[in-house]
Amino acid sequence: MNETPDQGPLRTPPGRLFRKYLYSIVALAFAALAINTGFDVWFSYREQKQLLAATQREQAASAAIQIGQFVGQIENQIRWLARLPPELSTNEDERLNAIRLLRLSPAIAEIAELDSRGLEQLRVSRRVADKVGSKTDLSASPAFRGANESRAYYGPVYFFADTEPFMTLATRGVGRNPNVIVAEVNLRFIWDLVAGIRVGNTGKAYVVDRMGVLIAHPDLWRALQRSDLSGHPDVRSALDGVGPPSGGLVKEDLTGQRVLSTYATVPSLGWLVFVELPLSEAYAPIYASIGRSTFLLVVLLIGAVLVSLFLSRRMTGPIQLLTQGARRIGSGDLGLRLAIKTGDELEALGDQFNRMAAQLRYSYATLERKVVERTSELEKARDHALAEHDAAERARSVAVAANETKSRFLAVVSHELRTPLNGVMGVLQLLDDGSLGDAQRRHLATAAASGETLIALVDAVLEYARLEASTEMLETRDFRLHQLIEAAADLMRPQAVDKGLTFDLACDATVNTAAHGDPVRLNRILLNLIGNAIKFTPSGGIAVNAAAEQHDDHILLRITVRDTGIGIAPDMHERIFEDFVQADDSVARRFGGTGLGLAIARRLSRLMRGELTVESTPGAGSTFALEVPLGLAASGIAQGALPPPSRQLRVLLVDDDPVNCEVGEAILNRLGHRATIARNGASAVALARDQSFDVVLMDLHMPDMDGVEAASRIGKLGLPRMPRIIAVTADVSRSARERLAAAGIAKVVSKPILINALREAIEDTPDAPATAQLAAGALIDRHFLDDQKELLGPTQIAKLHHLLQETSDKLIADIAKAAANGDRKHLARLAHQLGSAAGALGLVRLFERSRELEETAPALSASECQSAAQDLAALQKASMSALSDLLGPAEQLPIS
Ligand code: ADP
Repeated sequence: MNETPDQGPLRTPPGRLFRKYLYSIVALAFAALAINTGFDVWFSYREQKQLLAATQREQAASAAIQIGQFVGQIENQIRWLARLPPELSTNEDERLNAIRLLRLSPAIAEIAELDSRGLEQLRVSRRVADKVGSKTDLSASPAFRGANESRAYYGPVYFFADTEPFMTLATRGVGRNPNVIVAEVNLRFIWDLVAGIRVGNTGKAYVVDRMGVLIAHPDLWRALQRSDLSGHPDVRSALDGVGPPSGGLVKEDLTGQRVLSTYATVPSLGWLVFVELPLSEAYAPIYASIGRSTFLLVVLLIGAVLVSLFLSRRMTGPIQLLTQGARRIGSGDLGLRLAIKTGDELEALGDQFNRMAAQLRYSYATLERKVVERTSELEKARDHALAEHDAAERARSVAVAANETKSRFLAVVSHELRTPLNGVMGVLQLLDDGSLGDAQRRHLATAAASGETLIALVDAVLEYARLEASTEMLETRDFRLHQLIEAAADLMRPQAVDKGLTFDLACDATVNTAAHGDPVRLNRILLNLIGNAIKFTPSGGIAVNAAAEQHDDHILLRITVRDTGIGIAPDMHERIFEDFVQADDSVARRFGGTGLGLAIARRLSRLMRGELTVESTPGAGSTFALEVPLGLAASGIAQGALPPPSRQLRVLLVDDDPVNCEVGEAILNRLGHRATIARNGASAVALARDQSFDVVLMDLHMPDMDGVEAASRIGKLGLPRMPRIIAVTADVSRSARERLAAAGIAKVVSKPILINALREAIEDTPDAPATAQLAAGALIDRHFLDDQKELLGPTQIAKLHHLLQETSDKLIADIAKAAANGDRKHLARLAHQLGSAAGALGLVRLFERSRELEETAPALSASECQSAAQDLAALQKASMSALSDLLGPAEQLPIS
């Protein structure tokens, strides 16, 4: 009751939330900064590249222009030499002009003048002596032909003595027969120009001619090698006229270094000026910018970490406080107050938390009070229930005891009354040997009917119990209607006459017929009605009328019993049919009676699907009307004659009572069988050994050797043909039944012996029913069980069945335990209890074994005890299952 509810594992590691916040904020800041820096770097890279490319382009273009100008200037100078037509100047003039030009322009190494036919007129050189009028034919030289074709000719670059680059430049003069001036131009100037171009710190410019040959490079050695670069894809595409990309081209230079490259074309010459800057230098500002950005990123990140640390602490601190608070409340500390002063939603949450704890404190206090109240109420209720249960238990025990008493009483009554009746009935049945007159026969019939009535009255006691339990079954057979009615009338008439009453019986002719029904019960109703009529009629008379209406499938019997008696008050017309009800106490005192007769009569009528009603006027008399449907008889019943037996049997009749012997013998003779008498058990065994019998009719109660003993001795004789042994007894006690079952006697004929019952028992096919009975009889005494069923009814039987199942299960378990523990005393006690319980519903085998174990237990070894307990358990299981098979569904109802 004081258990605290499970708090659950509080495994949240401290600071987890804190770390979550921290990581999130840092990750966010990092992502923002990284993206920003990335964009920044990317764009500045692009811009830087464009800028560099533009600068390089400018440098290349400017170099190209300078080269163009240099060449253009030289071209103009030599063109100046050819300005005069040849006829206007002498060779000497020309020579002087040429010498002047050489002085003026250091780049020109040699000048030759050819006439229009290609003959050399003059050659002035810095290296060799001047030649004038040599007339050497140079008309086939490329310079002459090129100048003639397009006024100006630029020859390919060549290297003189592998030290300096030269180029042949030729122009054509004016006039009719123009001269051609050919100049050898030293291109060293271009080298200087190229070397003077500053491209960053480590960049360079170089020039290739229109064939792709390197003609100028800051590295003189390279230039002198006259490397052919036309194979390089970028040079090739530039020579093919593809313009340089606007952002410059990233490529590998001659040394394999990665460079940003661009170029410009020298007009007129078709040379290319390349300007290249190593990427490492070109991108240095970008790398510097990345470095700066990274530094900034790190600084900002540290800032973000610090800020998020601060924020997370501010947030998770109160949350941890709340968690601890919840934990303490969970462990029952309801007096807790959280102090969160953040001035935001967390503070509001903390306040809410405090209010909740206060509310819980209050509810808990109320709850505890309620629990205390409820507990005390429950305790009271429990005590009350226990008291009621005890009372119910006591009542149940009383009821069970009462029921047992009733059963015992009924058994005793039936036994004690039946035994003397046996003799009377037997003798009466013998009197009709066919030689009697009508009157004698009538008297005999009356006497027999009275005897039957007496038996029936004994049975009524049982019947009432059975009716009460609704287990009454009709015992139907063919009978003659008018015989039955006349017998009842004859029985009662003397009483009426004695009382000075008239007694009229008027049977319709239709009544003279055979019908199929239960004559004993019908007789009982009639006797009751006539008896009442006589009893309650002080003067006047009684009239009994009977009529039978024939239908296709049944006969409707109508009987009225009319009297001129005291009558019955209208409000009692229905009530008199209730149990133990009498119309008037004074009447009851005067006439006696139990108030049961009509109740039984109506129940029996209804059992036969009929109805019993009354019409009565107080003071004028009553009329009871019985209406019962009966079945059609199978065949006409011959009066007084019995059907012959299927074959004559040799019957050994064993009884110590001479009357019974006489009666029995006579009945057997009447049935057409041959009887031999034995007056005690010993002579019965001797006779059975010496003679052959089909049937032994064995009385059970004999002084020396009782019937069961005699039967089992006969069984042990080992006869070639074993007679069927039928027990004759008025003893319906349980022990008798058990003993019979044990001796293997499955068939019982009850005393007093009735001819039909005996005939049925004797002529019964020996095998099938006997085997069936024996099979069941091996475990259960069916007769006893049937009696119990009749006496107790299905509800009681179901209860007993349930009780037996429970009790025997428990006892078997206890027996197993006791056997395992070697507690023999307890074992014997339990076996006794099991035996008693098993006897209640005729579980004979289990009963015997239990008793055996009870007796032998003290002397058994431990292993014997255990095997006996196991056998008993198996037997109990088999017996209970056999019992279930024998009981009807209503008798197996589970008891809730
Ligand atoms: P009892 O044993 O008292 O006769 P019954 O059940 O047979 O019990 O009858 C119940 C009551 O009905 C009787 O006590 C009596 O008061 C009334 N009764 C029955 N039959 C008659 C009758 N023929 N005339 C008047 N009263 C009758």
